Amino acid sequence: DLIIGVFALQGDVREHLAALAECDVVARPVRRPEELASVHALVIPGGESTTMSKLVEIFGMLEPIRERIRGGMPVYGSCAGMIMLADHVLDGRSDQVFFGGIDMVVRRNAFGRQVDSFEANVDLAGVEGDPFHAVFIRAPRVESVGEGVEVLSRISGGDADGTIVAVRQGPLLATAFHPELTGDLRVHALFVEMVRAAAR
Ligand code: GLN
Repeated sequence: DLIIGVFALQGDVREHLAALAECDVVARPVRRPEELASVHALVIPGGESTTMSKLVEIFGMLEPIRERIRGGMPVYGSCAGMIMLADHVLDGRSDQVFFGGIDMVVRRNAFGRQVDSFEANVDLAGVEGDPFHAVFIRAPRVESVGEGVEVLSRISGGDADGTIVAVRQGPLLATAFHPELTGDLRVHALFVEMVRAAAR
């Protein structure tokens, strides 16, 4: 059986655990290196990346997670999780740490105060059916991606037209929005498929 961990030091952990459980995998909270060792893949939730960063250091999880990422473990990050997976972060705290892995530049809290939170219907490569109803909450903005990064989704129309909101690089997946909050399981299902492919 596939075991997918949800990084559980901070953020909307329960929502991700519930979404994964509905995708027919075993979902488990992960806080410590021993727990990390027993999962095939990891989800990093939305939350607050500065707080997550502090807890990552307190719990000694920076190097263990970086090492698993280097070893090819599939990881999916939503919102703050996307920030944690970025190789380059703008407007982070000076002492903030990140796992990295996806060759992209993201800017924290970049949609401006008046649009702190917004929703948009977006098309997602690899996801069939209706557009995905994406919820953004003080989301990071992807400013650029490297050659190895596949852009899965962009906002279409409005002020943020063209903004990249979902990316994939090998076994790493990230969205600026929160599919765990809307009950649409298609992003989690896509990730589970990536995990199954990596396990084969
Ligand atoms: N603004 C948050 C951060 O910098 C991310 C917000 C979220 O995950 N909803 O971590």
